[in-house]
Amino acid sequence: MDVYGIIGNPVEHSLSPPMHEAAFQERGIDAKYVTFEADVDRIDEALHGADALGIRGLTVTLPFKHDAFEFVEPDDLAQRVGAVNTIDFTESPPVGYNTDLIGTLRAFEHHDVELDGATAIVIGAGGAGRALAFGFDEAGADVLIANRTVERAHKLADEIPGATGHGLAELPELMSGADVVANATNVGLESDESVAPSDAWNSDVVAFDAVYKPLETKFLSDAKAAGAQTIDGAWMLLFQGVEAFEIWTGVEAPIDAMNEALRDRL
Ligand code: NAP
Repeated sequence: MDVYGIIGNPVEHSLSPPMHEAAFQERGIDAKYVTFEADVDRIDEALHGADALGIRGLTVTLPFKHDAFEFVEPDDLAQRVGAVNTIDFTESPPVGYNTDLIGTLRAFEHHDVELDGATAIVIGAGGAGRALAFGFDEAGADVLIANRTVERAHKLADEIPGATGHGLAELPELMSGADVVANATNVGLESDESVAPSDAWNSDVVAFDAVYKPLETKFLSDAKAAGAQTIDGAWMLLFQGVEAFEIWTGVEAPIDAMNEALRDRL
């Protein structure tokens, strides 16, 4: 039996195990997907151990995405973002990918949203904000980054040719000319708050929220009330898993089975 898993701390509430177990079962692959809660001071030992034990692939979650980047040979996209959330140990040295980035692009593609030439606002400049900003840029969008700590928005924008950094107070003006508005902050996570003013939405934008608890955040319900198309955060989670499954197995992922397993848990 092949062993895969997720490494993080904490990791017990991860939704990746049911999603990947459903995929292995659906495709008849004899494999197990396990949660590994690593000691935060011993991540390097943990990754070397996983490699030595013959674990075939790991999803990497907080707080280890940067440590994982140092451990692997990153592919081109992961190299650009500077973070890795998927490791393929079947290569030597192990190869690292950023499927948060590729997964987000696949989620937009799945919803028939064209990013090439679009004006896309990323709200947030943390880990998710980085993945979204680099992802939208890869897809050909003009990227605007708005963040509470405006210096972080400028710093991230400086890494992406053509991108600009902004403060949150500029959102109403930025949103009036945007095609895509994406929340990559923690605002709305298990709360009824939104980082975007509710009266700044219009029906021409596509709203995406990286937060998936709840599935319909205030950010998305405000956007929907204004007639905008919405994409919830479970789609990003789903497609990062879909991409990881395909990297590890070389088999087309059973998207519907994975989506069902994920949304059952949510
Ligand atoms: P992070 O690195 O800690 O970044 C947090 C971001 O949120 C920063 O930009 C921070 O701004 C901003 N922020 C926090 N509290 C705020 C507030 N009260 N008002 C305005 N801005 C605030 O976190 P992360 O890893 O990027 O994760 C962000 C969210 O994305 C989380 O909810 C996470 O669950 C979600 N996520 C979802 C997926 C998925 O697959 N759907 C994947 C990854 C992450 P400052 O810079 O000013 O502190």
